[in-house]
Amino acid sequence: MTYIVALTGGIGSGKTTLSNEFKKIGIDIIDTDIIAKKIIKFDLQILFSIQEKFGKKILNIDNSINRMLLRKYIFNNKNDRLWLENLLYPKIYKETKYQIKNAESNWCLWVVPLLIEKKLEKQAHRILLVDTSVKEQIRRIIKRDKISFLEAKKIIALQTTRKKRISISDDIIVNRKDMKKIHLYIHYFNLFYSYLSNKYHKKKTTDTKKNYLTKFY
Ligand code: ATP
Repeated sequence: MTYIVALTGGIGSGKTTLSNEFKKIGIDIIDTDIIAKKIIKFDLQILFSIQEKFGKKILNIDNSINRMLLRKYIFNNKNDRLWLENLLYPKIYKETKYQIKNAESNWCLWVVPLLIEKKLEKQAHRILLVDTSVKEQIRRIIKRDKISFLEAKKIIALQTTRKKRISISDDIIVNRKDMKKIHLYIHYFNLFYSYLSNKYHKKKTTDTKKNYLTKFY
């Protein structure tokens, strides 16, 4: 099995921004958000279940799911959120396992926003956190998703805390404004994870976890 690095972080912290950069240098990306979006779009069983639960108003004109509306519903109702997570989770898990099994790069990046919430920490060899201030998260998601300040705050309040994320991570990239630095981090972490992956595969060490803690500002 390939060496798995889980990339986690709060909404708008920069997971996609970072994973796109890793992708450019040839790292296989297994993104649970992308997998979930594909399942919602193409899995008819899921599509019908969502339609049955929320009614026809959840559909776009082309009968696809209106994801912005769905997001609004689930962030406003805990039971609906859990219902959707339980519906999607087995399929996401199956597809994630398949993609990881078929990963070909020296190590792979598993982008998993709900790593802590779903207690998946032990499923990765290493945990990389992309961290940014709550203020910056709010600023970014208001701009990207065209939502209000209150909506942004509400979504963030539903997620696990920054402190908790930091406490379980092996490595941290603090994603402030400067995008130039990101490229440096990407190359550094690729070298670092390739090294850990080689060690893991040669089984020179039984535990490549928690040996180092890397924090980049
Ligand atoms: P989500 O949890 O919603 O999937 P995410 O963690 O994947 O979000 P991104 O989509 O990568 O976060 O970033 C959120 C927004 O912030 C995007 O519009 C992105 O372009 C912007 N962004 C990310 N990092 C930076 C940065 N260093 N400087 C400026 N803008 C940034």
